[in-house]
Amino acid sequence: MQLPQALLDSLKGVPGFDAEAFVAVHNSDTQVTSVRLHAGKCQLEQPFTHVQPIPWCSDGYYLSSRPAFILDPWWHAGAYYVQEASSMFLWHILQQLTLQNTAHVLDVCAAPGGKTTLLQSYFQEGVVVANEVIKQRNAILVENLARWGSNNTIVTQNDPQQLGALRQMFDLLVIDAPCSGSGLFRKDKAAVAEWSEANVALCSARQQRIVADVLPALADGGYLIYSTCSYSEAENEQVVDAILSQHPMLKSVPITIQPEWGVIATASPQKGGWGYRFYPHRLQGEGFFVSIFQKEGGGGAYVPYGKLPAASKTVTQLLAAQGIDTESVHLLPQGDYFLNVAPQAAHVLAALQQQVYVRKAGITIGNIVRNELIPHPELALSVSNSGNYPRVEVGLEDALQYLRKHPLSPNNAPRGWVIVTYKGLGLGFMKVLPNRTNNYYPTEWRILKY
Ligand code: SAM
Repeated sequence: MQLPQALLDSLKGVPGFDAEAFVAVHNSDTQVTSVRLHAGKCQLEQPFTHVQPIPWCSDGYYLSSRPAFILDPWWHAGAYYVQEASSMFLWHILQQLTLQNTAHVLDVCAAPGGKTTLLQSYFQEGVVVANEVIKQRNAILVENLARWGSNNTIVTQNDPQQLGALRQMFDLLVIDAPCSGSGLFRKDKAAVAEWSEANVALCSARQQRIVADVLPALADGGYLIYSTCSYSEAENEQVVDAILSQHPMLKSVPITIQPEWGVIATASPQKGGWGYRFYPHRLQGEGFFVSIFQKEGGGGAYVPYGKLPAASKTVTQLLAAQGIDTESVHLLPQGDYFLNVAPQAAHVLAALQQQVYVRKAGITIGNIVRNELIPHPELALSVSNSGNYPRVEVGLEDALQYLRKHPLSPNNAPRGWVIVTYKGLGLGFMKVLPNRTNNYYPTEWRILKY
């Protein structure tokens, strides 16, 4: 791999950088594959054998080789998320911040959803709002969150400038900023050719703008986590300096790290703000940078405003008869559909809807046609409650047939709606008729190539 000389020159003297080792690791064929398990879905069985734990994330594991994830029904079921190991350091950071499990979190640049799913696993009693401004990428985020199956996530699609209107609503802002991408050169060879000094400068300016735009949404006493997958100081330590200079209400927060991890702590040149660098020649992971800030103030509790409509009594009774949890959740009508939204997320949703564009909230249960619930695919993937539908367990080949949206003819399947499961985890719905089955797996999610 021919690394950009201007990048190598710019990194001379940067803490942790070692030109020879850096070039060598980019020219080696070493591939690091890592996954983060969904603890709520992997209770009975681990999806992988031969794994090595990632030291900074309790659900994170290195795999000894890279399987074809597309052919693993458990990937489709949301049993795990394939995530780059350095990014999972977010888990370690969260453990050191004084944030309640009930926190309101805004993931500003969220697609495809790696950090969002980690945040959801951490803040199970809280609310995680995942924002992605680019429409096509937002669709991938929605899909990944549907697989994760939690009712306390909300997806929005807004420019960071619009998010600033959500005054003091969040205890934590995560800005995993768009960047020049040098940290992912090993995984994305095309990014090498696209790299330029001009783009680094452009990214740096945009990163500072995103922080300034969204900062009004941070509550007093709350935290900002800023990260990139770039090695360039202009996108990392220099942005830390800009944040500390332009926003004096923010102070830099250090994080404890173990020396054997190979993570490099840095200080920004002007303000001495803490940052943490990840290099592939020092640890098993890709290039990453992260810095943490706390806003001054006593943590004035955010007061929710606005009210959401609720499902009628008739609908609630119909859903309850189908075994859907109608008591501990907010049943939200939306068009023809009904959603399961965690009560704490419903409060936040009501306020969000007044200010920004909300694309998805909680879990879509389904719609009602002639007094029958037509279940939505998200219901089968839900962690909390999928109703009392019969569950039909299938083997690997049938699971893949189902995921290709081909018809199945399982033995002894009862008539009507059933949830197709693989090793106990729901994949989606199927309707069993007297002489055939209808496969209701979403067309846009189906396996196409294999
Ligand atoms: N956090 C994600 C994860 O862990 O899966 C990765 C986020 S990626 C590094 C940065 C995201 O920022 C991209 O999805 C990109 O579409 C989005 N983005 C691009 N331009 C943006 C802008 N001007 N404001 C906010 N987000 C932007």
